[in-house]
Amino acid sequence: MKLTYQPFELKLKHPFTIAKFSRTSTPVMLVQIGHEDYTGYGEASMVPYMGESHESAAAFLNEVDVNQLKFPFNFEEIINYLDSIAPGNPAIKAAVDIALHDLEGKLLNKPCWQLVGSDPALMPVSSYTIGIDEPDVFLKKVKEAEGFKVIKVKLGRASDKELINIIRSVTDVPIYVDANQGWTDRQQSIDTIHWLQQQGVVLVEQPMLKTDIAGNAWLTERSPIPIIGDEAVQRLADVEKAKGVYHGINVKLMKSAGMYEAEQMISKARSLGLKVLIGCMSETSCASLAAAALAPLCDWADIDGPFLTTNNPYKTPAFKDGKYELSNAPGLGLLSK
Ligand code: MG
Repeated sequence: MKLTYQPFELKLKHPFTIAKFSRTSTPVMLVQIGHEDYTGYGEASMVPYMGESHESAAAFLNEVDVNQLKFPFNFEEIINYLDSIAPGNPAIKAAVDIALHDLEGKLLNKPCWQLVGSDPALMPVSSYTIGIDEPDVFLKKVKEAEGFKVIKVKLGRASDKELINIIRSVTDVPIYVDANQGWTDRQQSIDTIHWLQQQGVVLVEQPMLKTDIAGNAWLTERSPIPIIGDEAVQRLADVEKAKGVYHGINVKLMKSAGMYEAEQMISKARSLGLKVLIGCMSETSCASLAAAALAPLCDWADIDGPFLTTNNPYKTPAFKDGKYELSNAPGLGLLSK
């Protein structure tokens, strides 16, 4: 087993602005794990607010003893091993886990979606995220979303209603709203949610601060559309705490430390009666295909990473009628350009 990695700066099509910050690129770490004649590909997308970086990722990978990664892979033991190296660091742990899943698929000659028990026929449509912007730029972005069957919009500012109206001037596709913890007043929030529902919004992500459990629960109790916890739900241990606070959770590989724990989170959520949205960060085709392999196990998908970047080092994933098309190729089905 041989592990190599390359730091990479993934450029965004538009500066990405949400309620709390703005940025133009994302540091990612591309990871390869080789065994026999096969190579598994993984990726860590390290959005700055999560606290990981090229430096922290390299330091973590330098601590990984590849002799601990024995095929056939026991992913539970592997995540325990990775957690024993250092706490936190979920994105670079995800990179190792994704590379091992890709490698496992190649060694077993099976696609990853089959290894995780997904049915490609159940693939949900994937949304396309539009960041907050000046009205004319925002309108341009909405027009770029043609081909997607759902639009996701980042709200949390005074211009919220204006932005929804701009979308509706162009398209009537369903909308997912992500407030990214930006709402503070309960009554104002529930009034906004009712208005949003009338505009064809079908879910709202993380309306209030992740620490405001009572506030989010208050909204969930009253909301006519699902309220989804994102920032509040990172890894498996957080899923149980989401019950009663949210209708569902947003699972992302860069939070869950990879595919294995994401699958555990999806199962746990199901057992608790929680809905599941599978999301992503700014990612290349690599981590996005890993999420797409799990997407048929979820209610909704928001895997738009490769479509929002300009220097994806891999081929853009097959995408038709607003959905990822899972390939029968062994592993993730990741193709070089
Ligand atoms: Mg979110």
